[in-house]
Amino acid sequence: MPELPEVETVMRGLTPRLEGRILAHVEARRPDLRWPLPDGFAGRLTGRRVVGLRRRAKYILVDLDDGACWMIHLGMSGRMLLSNGGDPAFEKHDHVVLRTDEGWWLRFNDARRFGMMDLWPTADVENHRLLAGIGPEPLGNAFSATALETALEGRQTAIKAALLDQRVVAGIGNIYACEALHRSGIAPKRLALNVRGARADALVSAIGAVLTDAIAAGGSSLRDHRQTSGELGYFQHTFGVYDREGQPCPKEGCRGTVQRIVQTGRSTFYCPSCQR
Ligand SMILES: [Zn+2]
Repeated sequence: MPELPEVETVMRGLTPRLEGRILAHVEARRPDLRWPLPDGFAGRLTGRRVVGLRRRAKYILVDLDDGACWMIHLGMSGRMLLSNGGDPAFEKHDHVVLRTDEGWWLRFNDARRFGMMDLWPTADVENHRLLAGIGPEPLGNAFSATALETALEGRQTAIKAALLDQRVVAGIGNIYACEALHRSGIAPKRLALNVRGARADALVSAIGAVLTDAIAAGGSSLRDHRQTSGELGYFQHTFGVYDREGQPCPKEGCRGTVQRIVQTGRSTFYCPSCQR
């Protein structure tokens, strides 16, 4: 499942080819992804100029010149692939394809079809049912130790589970929750309400650092993630704990071994020696 760095990587890859361009040809090759595409989807995108692209949580938001926002979620396996030159050889699972006035092709390929697209008024997009109530952006100014403490107040749940709750902080999934907890030395089972003061500070810093590093590496490609060029991301090669059960903890001076436990149905990887 793509998390914030993978979505950010895709958004940044799309920006130079879409921003300011006209969507000259748009084709929906099936009527639905996870949910039905909005009525008249291809027709409403065709001829529109792209004003800008941004990301909110795990959504790519493409603002159009008619005041509509094209919302995109990659789901589990969605890829946005760019190519130029002649017509691309369309592949199975290329569900939405478009060509810009510059001649670049964009294919949305989604084998498992958990992705979604919608068109919504730009001015109201924060109130879309999928975005309303989502917490602060972890790389934005609104995310601080104080904000995190407030969001965790009274939460009798494990900090790992709390970090996956999109109301606490946006865009973090299993991989980056594990990595941020390891970097900040916080045990995944620690009660969320006890992450305060210096621990909250350390966690906020670690979340920012791990996401920034992952974006710089083009995200993590475990199964499906591809950059818009089709290249893999390579942050998975620098995981500290994720998917490293039984291996030595990479932290300097720590002699611990990475362990795997299951929390709320998801694998948690952590080092019992340096995470408290
Ligand atoms: Zn360790």
